[in-house]
Amino acid sequence: MPSFVIVEKCDGCKALDKTACQYICPNDLMVLNAESKKAFNQEPDQCWECYNCVKICPQQAIEVRHYADIMPLGSSTYPMRGSDSIMWTIKFRDQKTTKRFKFPIRTTPEGSIDIMKGKSAPNLADIKKSGLYTGPARKE
Ligand code: SF4
Ligand code: SF4
Repeated sequence: MPSFVIVEKCDGCKALDKTACQYICPNDLMVLNAESKKAFNQEPDQCWECYNCVKICPQQAIEVRHYADIMPLGSSTYPMRGSDSIMWTIKFRDQKTTKRFKFPIRTTPEGSIDIMKGKSAPNLADIKKSGLYTGPARKE
Protein backbone atom coordinates (compact mmCIF):
# COMPACT_ATOMS: atom_id res chain seq x y z
CA MET A 1 0.00 0.00 0.00
CA PRO A 2 1.40 3.43 -0.85
CA SER A 3 2.53 6.07 1.58
CA PHE A 4 0.11 8.64 2.90
CA VAL A 5 0.57 11.79 4.95
CA ILE A 6 -1.12 12.26 8.32
CA VAL A 7 -2.10 15.89 7.79
CA GLU A 8 -2.50 16.69 11.48
CA LYS A 9 1.20 15.91 12.03
CA CYS A 10 2.72 17.40 8.83
CA ASP A 11 4.14 20.90 9.28
CA GLY A 12 5.29 21.26 5.66
CA CYS A 13 8.89 21.04 6.86
CA LYS A 14 8.55 24.61 8.08
CA ALA A 15 8.53 26.13 4.56
CA LEU A 16 11.93 24.83 3.48
CA ASP A 17 12.61 25.13 -0.29
CA LYS A 18 12.17 21.39 -0.59
CA THR A 19 10.57 19.24 2.08
CA ALA A 20 12.36 16.21 3.47
CA CYS A 21 9.90 13.82 1.82
CA GLN A 22 10.29 15.56 -1.55
CA TYR A 23 14.06 15.37 -1.24
CA ILE A 24 14.21 11.67 -0.44
CA CYS A 25 11.54 10.06 -2.67
CA PRO A 26 13.30 8.16 -5.48
CA ASN A 27 10.19 8.49 -7.63
CA ASP A 28 9.43 12.21 -7.05
CA LEU A 29 6.01 11.42 -5.67
CA MET A 30 5.78 13.76 -2.71
CA VAL A 31 4.58 17.31 -3.27
CA LEU A 32 3.67 20.18 -0.97
CA ASN A 33 0.29 21.83 -1.26
CA ALA A 34 1.21 25.52 -1.41
CA GLU A 35 -1.99 26.64 0.28
CA SER A 36 -2.38 24.14 3.11
CA LYS A 37 1.42 23.63 3.56
CA LYS A 38 0.81 19.91 3.82
CA ALA A 39 2.60 17.28 1.77
CA PHE A 40 0.86 14.51 -0.14
CA ASN A 41 1.69 11.58 -2.37
CA GLN A 42 0.69 12.79 -5.83
CA GLU A 43 0.65 9.39 -7.50
CA PRO A 44 0.08 6.54 -5.03
CA ASP A 45 0.01 3.94 -7.82
CA GLN A 46 3.69 4.62 -8.45
CA CYS A 47 4.81 4.26 -4.82
CA TRP A 48 7.45 1.58 -4.29
CA GLU A 49 6.74 1.42 -0.55
CA CYS A 50 10.44 1.93 0.03
CA TYR A 51 9.81 3.65 3.38
CA ASN A 52 12.35 6.44 2.65
CA CYS A 53 9.81 9.20 3.23
CA VAL A 54 8.55 7.50 6.38
CA LYS A 55 12.07 7.29 7.82
CA ILE A 56 13.11 10.85 6.98
CA CYS A 57 9.97 12.74 8.04
CA PRO A 58 10.92 14.71 11.18
CA GLN A 59 7.28 14.78 12.32
CA GLN A 60 6.55 11.08 11.85
CA ALA A 61 3.73 12.28 9.63
CA ILE A 62 3.98 9.62 6.91
CA GLU A 63 2.76 6.08 7.09
CA VAL A 64 2.97 3.14 4.72
CA ARG A 65 0.37 0.46 5.23
CA HIS A 66 1.81 -2.94 4.60
CA TYR A 67 -0.15 -5.70 2.97
CA ALA A 68 -2.65 -7.54 5.10
CA ASP A 69 -0.68 -10.80 5.12
CA ILE A 70 2.09 -9.24 7.21
CA MET A 71 0.34 -6.21 8.74
CA PRO A 72 -3.31 -6.96 9.50
CA LEU A 73 -5.72 -4.03 9.38
CA GLY A 74 -5.47 -1.89 12.49
CA SER A 75 -1.77 -2.56 13.08
CA SER A 76 1.04 -0.20 12.16
CA THR A 77 4.82 -0.03 11.71
CA TYR A 78 6.71 3.17 12.53
CA PRO A 79 10.42 3.78 12.18
CA MET A 80 12.22 6.41 14.26
CA ARG A 81 15.59 7.27 12.75
CA GLY A 82 18.47 8.42 14.95
CA SER A 83 22.01 9.36 13.94
CA ASP A 84 23.36 5.85 14.55
CA SER A 85 20.32 3.58 14.81
CA ILE A 86 16.73 3.12 13.82
CA MET A 87 13.92 2.07 16.12
CA TRP A 88 10.94 0.22 14.65
CA THR A 89 7.72 0.31 16.64
CA ILE A 90 5.22 -2.38 15.78
CA LYS A 91 1.69 -1.89 17.04
CA PHE A 92 -0.49 -4.95 16.92
CA ARG A 93 -4.08 -4.75 15.81
CA ASP A 94 -5.36 -5.41 19.32
CA GLN A 95 -4.14 -1.82 19.96
CA LYS A 96 -2.56 -3.04 23.21
CA THR A 97 0.53 -4.96 22.19
CA THR A 98 3.57 -2.97 21.10
CA LYS A 99 7.03 -4.25 20.24
CA ARG A 100 10.14 -2.22 19.53
CA PHE A 101 13.28 -3.26 17.71
CA LYS A 102 16.40 -1.11 17.58
CA PHE A 103 19.02 -1.69 14.91
CA PRO A 104 22.36 0.06 14.32
CA ILE A 105 22.50 1.74 10.89
CA ARG A 106 26.14 2.82 10.70
CA THR A 107 29.58 2.08 12.12
CA THR A 108 31.14 5.53 11.66
CA PRO A 109 30.09 8.93 13.06
CA GLU A 110 27.52 10.75 10.91
CA GLY A 111 29.19 13.07 8.37
CA SER A 112 32.66 11.59 8.89
CA ILE A 113 33.05 9.77 5.57
CA ASP A 114 35.17 11.48 2.90
CA ILE A 115 33.86 9.92 -0.31
CA MET A 116 36.70 11.41 -2.39
CA LYS A 117 39.48 10.18 -0.10
CA GLY A 118 42.31 8.67 -2.16
CA LYS A 119 40.62 9.48 -5.49
CA SER A 120 41.52 11.99 -8.15
CA ALA A 121 38.92 14.51 -9.30
CA PRO A 122 36.57 13.08 -11.97
CA ASN A 123 37.42 13.99 -15.56
CA LEU A 124 34.45 14.69 -17.86
CA ALA A 125 36.46 13.36 -20.83
CA ASP A 126 36.30 9.89 -19.24
CA ILE A 127 32.52 9.79 -19.36
CA LYS A 128 32.42 7.77 -22.62
CA LYS A 129 34.95 5.22 -21.46
CA SER A 130 33.80 1.87 -20.19
CA GLY A 131 33.85 1.04 -16.51
CA LEU A 132 32.92 2.99 -13.41
CA TYR A 133 34.74 5.88 -11.72
CA THR A 134 34.85 3.97 -8.47
CA GLY A 135 35.73 0.66 -10.11
CA PRO A 136 39.19 -0.88 -10.57
CA ALA A 137 41.65 1.00 -12.80
CA ARG A 138 40.92 0.36 -16.50
CA LYS A 139 43.36 -0.81 -19.11
CA GLU A 140 42.56 1.28 -22.21
S1 SF4 B 1 8.73 15.34 5.54
FE1 SF4 B 1 6.96 15.08 6.92
S2 SF4 B 1 6.66 17.10 7.86
FE2 SF4 B 1 7.96 17.41 6.06
S3 SF4 B 1 6.49 17.93 4.43
FE3 SF4 B 1 6.86 15.71 4.32
S4 SF4 B 1 5.19 14.81 5.53
FE4 SF4 B 1 5.30 16.98 6.07
S1 SF4 C 1 7.48 5.06 0.17
FE1 SF4 C 1 9.23 5.51 -1.18
S2 SF4 C 1 8.37 5.60 -3.27
FE2 SF4 C 1 6.63 5.77 -1.82
S3 SF4 C 1 6.35 7.99 -1.58
FE3 SF4 C 1 7.70 7.30 0.09
S4 SF4 C 1 9.80 7.63 -0.68
FE4 SF4 C 1 8.38 7.72 -2.45
